[in-house]
Amino acid sequence: MSKISSLEQAVQTYGVEHWGAGYFGINKYGNLIVRPTKNDVRSADVKLIVDHLISRQRLKPPVLLRFPQIIASQIRELYLSFSSAIREFDYRGAHLAVYPLKVNPRRDVVEAFLQEGRKYGYGLEVGSKAELYAALAFEQTSDSLLVCNGFKDETFIEMAFAAAALGKNVFVVIEKLNELYTFLRVAETARYKPHLGVRVKLYSRGSGRWEKSGGETAKFGLTTTETLEVIKLIKHHRLIDSLKMLHCHIGSQITDIKRIKNAIKEAARVYAKMRKLGVEIEYLNVGGGMSVDYDGSKTSFESSANYTMQEFANDVVYTVSSICADENVPEPIIVTESGRILTAYHAMVVVNVQDEIETVIDEIAPGEVDEDDPQVVLELRDLRDNITSKNYREYYHDALEHKEELVTLFSLGYIDLEDRAKGEVLFWQIIEKVEQFARQSRFFHEEFDDLRKLLAAKYLCNFSVFRSAPDAWALDHLFPIMPIHKLDEPPTEFATLVDLTCDSDGIIDKFVDLKEVKEVLEVHPFSREPYYLAILLVGAYQEAMGNYHNLFGALNEAHIIIDTDGDFHVQKIIPGHSLGDVLTLARYDRNFLLEGFERNLAMAVKRDRLSEDESMLLRQYYEATVNKYTYLD
Ligand SMILES: *Cc1c(COP(=O)(O)O)cnc(C)c1O
Repeated sequence: MSKISSLEQAVQTYGVEHWGAGYFGINKYGNLIVRPTKNDVRSADVKLIVDHLISRQRLKPPVLLRFPQIIASQIRELYLSFSSAIREFDYRGAHLAVYPLKVNPRRDVVEAFLQEGRKYGYGLEVGSKAELYAALAFEQTSDSLLVCNGFKDETFIEMAFAAAALGKNVFVVIEKLNELYTFLRVAETARYKPHLGVRVKLYSRGSGRWEKSGGETAKFGLTTTETLEVIKLIKHHRLIDSLKMLHCHIGSQITDIKRIKNAIKEAARVYAKMRKLGVEIEYLNVGGGMSVDYDGSKTSFESSANYTMQEFANDVVYTVSSICADENVPEPIIVTESGRILTAYHAMVVVNVQDEIETVIDEIAPGEVDEDDPQVVLELRDLRDNITSKNYREYYHDALEHKEELVTLFSLGYIDLEDRAKGEVLFWQIIEKVEQFARQSRFFHEEFDDLRKLLAAKYLCNFSVFRSAPDAWALDHLFPIMPIHKLDEPPTEFATLVDLTCDSDGIIDKFVDLKEVKEVLEVHPFSREPYYLAILLVGAYQEAMGNYHNLFGALNEAHIIIDTDGDFHVQKIIPGHSLGDVLTLARYDRNFLLEGFERNLAMAVKRDRLSEDESMLLRQYYEATVNKYTYLD
């Protein structure tokens, strides 16, 4: 295959143009590139970035690459989408966004959000005390919002009052009746008060994996009766002027735009009816949930989205506008809390393939099979020698049966280890031929799908699924994965990816595809040369949800800015966790470790296993090793 057609083939194989949203592509050198804005002429070559980090910055893989410009680009798109919808539908309200810290609470990410979002008056959303505590330290523009969701105790609510004292435009959204009692208690002695909001349960549900965040049985929000009671109580305390926001959120990654429209319709009606009760709600907060098209299929499949940001904005603005017209109430300021769509694209994890775990044993030459060998071995040999493109389907089933028989005979003690080995080698040789014939045939029968998986290589990758792509493990969530180089050479192998953890769940065997879910990934043959794969679109949720299974820690991290001339520069380097760092998280402080090691050393010296000198060297070694990276060198 020529280099050009290989490049085109790679674009197809990995679906870059489908899920890449204009941020990713492949250059003529066969490397993955990143663009700072959609379809920008500027781009940076990911392989060159990784080479630079390794040789110049001595930063070892695996690395997390962050592209803050992509966060800014997504925010701009959000702003432009809503501006355009507001103009198109002559909407007299406005739109404001808040960034939910839960999606990615990393300081650098929140700072990147505020740096761009500040231009449009965008603010923050918090759902816990720790998130609010962090938000109190950020500078926001005066009209931007600070929305407090989630279950709240007295401290949480007091902190919201502190935010109000600072002059922040803060909203305490009541999720439970007792939060209101606490609010009223704190309000008695406070000079500055936050605004109030109510979160209502909608009957409408989202779609996709987080469907149960909506509906009557949702975990959050007030029922209709509770909402009325809250209003009554607030009126009674003469605080009704503070109740300014109506909030709903029907879940994350809502893949189907119809569900969004239905929810907005219902929420807008609730807004209108509250207005008619004399509650002057100004902000209609429609929550988050904008879906990321991880597989590029543009469908309502759980890893996809059947709409764009513009369509989302149009539908929200149009629906709110038409219901307000119908009910003859003022058009509110629409607040959105979408986080996933803003941050998913900006981060990727680059891992090196460390090794290939051989699953097949076909490379061991079978010992001569002779007529004294057990019948089952002879039959497998005959299948191997006589298989053709005409009989391979039948022979495949025969081979499966003989393989069963082989193991049964072995378990019963009728054949020995050598016979079993011969039989297994012959079996794999047959399977390989079956796969070749199946591939050549015009119809790839479904019965051979498993075969491809059976024959797939296992690439041992230098990372932990649990740390870097936890949703792939917990939810079978799909992330685009592809080599960052060699894309001008055809990928001739199929592989699943296994991680470093001693956990059989530490594997990725589901990959994005336009029509289905692939169970194997097209890869290049593994040699001893460095081979890098990128796991893309991991900027939302993965970092905070990632865990320390097997004590694999945070990755080395680099923040990359793509310059005007197409060059890149490294804005920031953040070293990943060392052995000492992850051990501290499990409550092994350094003194405990060192003192414990020293005690063991002293014992070894006492028993004359080690000399004093040896013991000193070993101590130095132990002390220095605490700074090593948790991943393979
Ligand atoms: C999680 C959450 C969000 C963010 O949802 P995305 O799917 O990331 O857009 C917004 N609002 C609330 C209340 C949430 O709990």
